[in-house]
Amino acid sequence: MDFELNETQLLIQKTARDFVERTLLPVAAELDKTERFPRAELQALADLGMMGVNLPTALGGAEAGVVSYSLAMSEVARGCASTAVTMAVTNMVGEVINAFGTDAQREAHIPKLTSGEYAAGSFALSEPEAGSDPGSMRTVARRDGDSFVLDGPKQWITSGSHAGVFVVWARTGELSAGTKAISCFLVEGGADGLRIGKHEDKLGLRASNTVSLSFEGVRVPASALLGEMNGGFKIAMMALDGGRIGIASQAIGIATAALGEAVAYAKDRKQFGKPIGDYQAIQWMLADSKTELDAARMLTLRAAWLKEQGGLFSKEAAMAKLFASEACGKIVDRCLQVHGGYGYVKEFAIERHYRDARVTRIYEGTSEIQRVVIARNVLR
Ligand SMILES: Cc1cc2nc3c(=O)[nH]c(=O)nc-3n(C[C@H](O)[C@H](O)[C@H](O)COP(=O)(O)OP(=O)(O)OC[C@H]3O[C@@H](n4cnc5c(N)ncnc54)[C@H](O)[C@@H]3O)c2cc1C
Repeated sequence: MDFELNETQLLIQKTARDFVERTLLPVAAELDKTERFPRAELQALADLGMMGVNLPTALGGAEAGVVSYSLAMSEVARGCASTAVTMAVTNMVGEVINAFGTDAQREAHIPKLTSGEYAAGSFALSEPEAGSDPGSMRTVARRDGDSFVLDGPKQWITSGSHAGVFVVWARTGELSAGTKAISCFLVEGGADGLRIGKHEDKLGLRASNTVSLSFEGVRVPASALLGEMNGGFKIAMMALDGGRIGIASQAIGIATAALGEAVAYAKDRKQFGKPIGDYQAIQWMLADSKTELDAARMLTLRAAWLKEQGGLFSKEAAMAKLFASEACGKIVDRCLQVHGGYGYVKEFAIERHYRDARVTRIYEGTSEIQRVVIARNVLR
């Protein structure tokens, strides 16, 4: 057993860390406050290979593996969780196209995702009435000659206003056929009939873009079908398995930032004549947080390693996402407590971390859905 990172992993981690220190941390509070979509920062990340960490170099990726991706994601999330989620979804879209696409689809889209020519990629699965249960989706794709025509709503789509390409799931058979009649399509940004809805006014991740979409007779060529006809649900589930490693890594990054702030504050803040870090009550909060953070990291890197080895990793990814996101919630809460009243105002970064953390327990499958996935595997 080897807990050491290899040279490539260390290099990716250091590259992301340097970028965060130099470029992202100085603007993170401003991004949160103004809700500015971090276009320039995303381009800089693309220039560093971060928009395709686990994609082939021939397509502009870094080809550095899943562990490297997890490390990079945690670093970027430590700097700015909004930028991190945009990067996570873009990497996920590139990986889905790489895994299930034809050569023509890969060549058409992946270099534009990895180079930053596309500001982002979007993953359009959720609908207003179909969140945890995407098998009940209503968006339809109807075959019409050499084309498919898509109609229906999508909800909560990250980067929807900026994406160069959308991976879109739609029903290609009767509703009664459930998950067996869902297919996956690639739709280009700006397609005729693709309406972008309102930008959600969120609790956290204020600089990430989250919108609803409406497909109103969006016509795509038959060659836009990704994978097999009626094989889309399996693609979604496989993509989410990988995506959960990304969100677990994001949660680790947010928690790492929060703990760093709390440790610095505990050393600096004096009450009753000494630093609050001298009190056991504060020490225990920091000790529990550090322990949970390391446990989250271990689970997440194990899931990433398993995916990299080509093994089954669905249960491990769900466990990592469940544990890391719940640990992140506890850690940001304790770290805010360490700050006392100063944790409750925007002057201190912990206030942003507290808000940003919450969604990691919701998206890419809620904590309850992770437990469903884990239990299904355990009971098999
Ligand atoms: C900021 C943000 C960004 C997002 N980005 C994207 C994106 O880019 N693309 C995309 O497709 N989606 C995206 N989502 C959607 C996200 O994946 C869904 O919100 C999530 O899957 C939950 O669906 P829902 O909100 O409809 O909640 P619901 O499914 O309605 O769940 C409500 C509650 O019921 C619980 N519940 C539901 N079913 C069960 C069950 N079987 N057992 C136990 N409890 C259950 C849930 O855990 C939850 O607590 C995003 C969401 C947010 C908030």
